[in-house]
Amino acid sequence: MEDVDVVVAGAGHNSLITACYLAKAGYRCLVLEANAIPGGGAVTEELLGPGYAVDSCATGHTLMCTNPLLADDELGLMAAGSLTYVDPDPVAHVAFPDGGHFTMTLDRNETAAEFGRFSAADARAYERLLDDYAEVAPVFARAQHTPAGMGPPLDQLLAEHPRGRVWQRRRMLSAWDVVRTEFESREARAFLMWMAFQTNQALDIPGTGLLASSIVAGRQRRSWSVLQGGSGRLVDALVGYLEAHGGEVRCGQPVRRLLVEGGRCAGVETESGEQYRARRAVVSTIHVVHLMDMAPPGTWPEELEYAVRTYDVGIPGFGIYLLTDVAPAFQTPAGPVSAVSAGTVGWPEDLLQLGFDLRHGRYVEDVPWLLVATPTLVDPDRAPPGHHTVKVLSQQVYDLPGGPEGWPAAKEAQARRQLEHLRRSAPGFTDDHVLAMLVKAPPDFEASNRHMVHGAFHGGDRGVAQSGPGRPAPGWAGHRMPLAGLYQTGATTNPGGSITGVPGRNAARVVLTDLGIDPDAVLRPVHAGDGTVPHGVTGLTTAGAVGETARAAGGAA
Ligand SMILES: Cc1cc2nc3c(=O)[nH]c(=O)nc-3n(C[C@H](O)[C@H](O)[C@H](O)COP(=O)(O)OP(=O)(O)OC[C@H]3O[C@@H](n4cnc5c(N)ncnc54)[C@H](O)[C@@H]3O)c2cc1C
Repeated sequence: MEDVDVVVAGAGHNSLITACYLAKAGYRCLVLEANAIPGGGAVTEELLGPGYAVDSCATGHTLMCTNPLLADDELGLMAAGSLTYVDPDPVAHVAFPDGGHFTMTLDRNETAAEFGRFSAADARAYERLLDDYAEVAPVFARAQHTPAGMGPPLDQLLAEHPRGRVWQRRRMLSAWDVVRTEFESREARAFLMWMAFQTNQALDIPGTGLLASSIVAGRQRRSWSVLQGGSGRLVDALVGYLEAHGGEVRCGQPVRRLLVEGGRCAGVETESGEQYRARRAVVSTIHVVHLMDMAPPGTWPEELEYAVRTYDVGIPGFGIYLLTDVAPAFQTPAGPVSAVSAGTVGWPEDLLQLGFDLRHGRYVEDVPWLLVATPTLVDPDRAPPGHHTVKVLSQQVYDLPGGPEGWPAAKEAQARRQLEHLRRSAPGFTDDHVLAMLVKAPPDFEASNRHMVHGAFHGGDRGVAQSGPGRPAPGWAGHRMPLAGLYQTGATTNPGGSITGVPGRNAARVVLTDLGIDPDAVLRPVHAGDGTVPHGVTGLTTAGAVGETARAAGGAA
């Protein structure tokens, strides 16, 4: 397939989404992926043996479900029947350092009562947090689903909202500022900080204030949505759509250089020296830190180079993958509790210290924050009967005192310490229940996905400097790059990482606009009998920029 309209570098879920919308509009797309399989952070692999489907990276798709791509079924993937989401209940279970715990359920009143175990004022504060956020969620969702420069900026939308000025301040605060202002008990604060830390973002950084509300509000609405069969089913559905619409994904094709001809990005060259030209556009999900070296000197303007030189790639992650014959069961006075999304947390001051240490590169031996994901509790077919796949995630540094080279020798012991930490609250989850184990330190995550620079999962820090119009760089947040014909998507673009599909869909809107296609004619629900939208056809019935579900849900994680 050499006769190509659009070349896409990288096959993460975001860039696949961009490619699918372009294919829906009738363009022939060739996606070049460095790895042996497509999907990036959305892959599901038999990491630990045949018959065990393990999400190597993401498991929870809460925000993906609110993207109009799925919520309004704009590609017909839901109607095709291969995507079934389960919303686990309990939503989350978290153990505190003193043996106490917090269980969140899908019943809002029940969750408020759980806050009430620690403070009646905190139970009211929780209800208020959800109600307050529900008021402005449509504003945040509208801003998120609108590429920079194609609609009013978030600040303006908030200024026009009756209560928006509170949120103009709140989003500039840190998550910790918000939590400590609204909640008084250390348990409520610790639980909310456990939630907010899920994007590996230090919680005292200005600009993280929204994380204190958006994640928990999203979970209260629809839990930590898990795709039956694993995240890879989403990748399969996107690749299937692309292929059915004349596109192709070619794996084992790392892109090393952009082809620049006549001041335009004309295509890409892979590490094996093959060149692929695109008639219309090149879409990249290459990390911006790498992209800078892929064009001739002088290509990038000073402000982009400066933004990338100062780009904070984010806090790296550490993962333990287990096959077990029991699910982790957390001790409580009322008996053991298991949850698809569970974990441990320190007290607020522990988490603030953790974020500080990691941001400053200090290795932490015993990370108090653990996320323990056991999707087989609601999706047992991922493993043989009676068995579970368990993923224990924490944060870490990329450089050990002697450099990243020390990780192969150190990671097993680190994993043992984190499992011991978990066993303080889940004592029955002992080694004799572990059938197989794999440990990934930050350099391992980087090696398995070059988009996860330094093993950071979310494409870069999300503080003030790298959010909204500043992501990846001021002036270049609208997916168009300074090189004509080149578009950037993925986690280094707004609103950042996680499985949201938002950067991918927004990039499609921008590319389509530049190609002279009305994006609303393409980014709309597929109805029976809908075919491909031919090039140049405009004025078809539109569904607006944001589907109803997304309008109602919003979110930032
Ligand atoms: C262990 C772990 C757990 C996580 N859990 C969750 C979770 O539960 N929920 C959630 O929402 N998020 C989670 N995340 C984060 C999430 O996986 C990422 O933020 C998300 O995958 C980013 O998607 P993307 O499409 O932007 O890029 P990616 O998924 O990173 O895909 C980028 C792709 O581009 C390819 N690529 C990069 N450079 C090149 C090149 N030069 N040439 C060719 N190909 C290239 C890569 O190989 C990769 O396939 C987790 C991440 C990890 C690692």
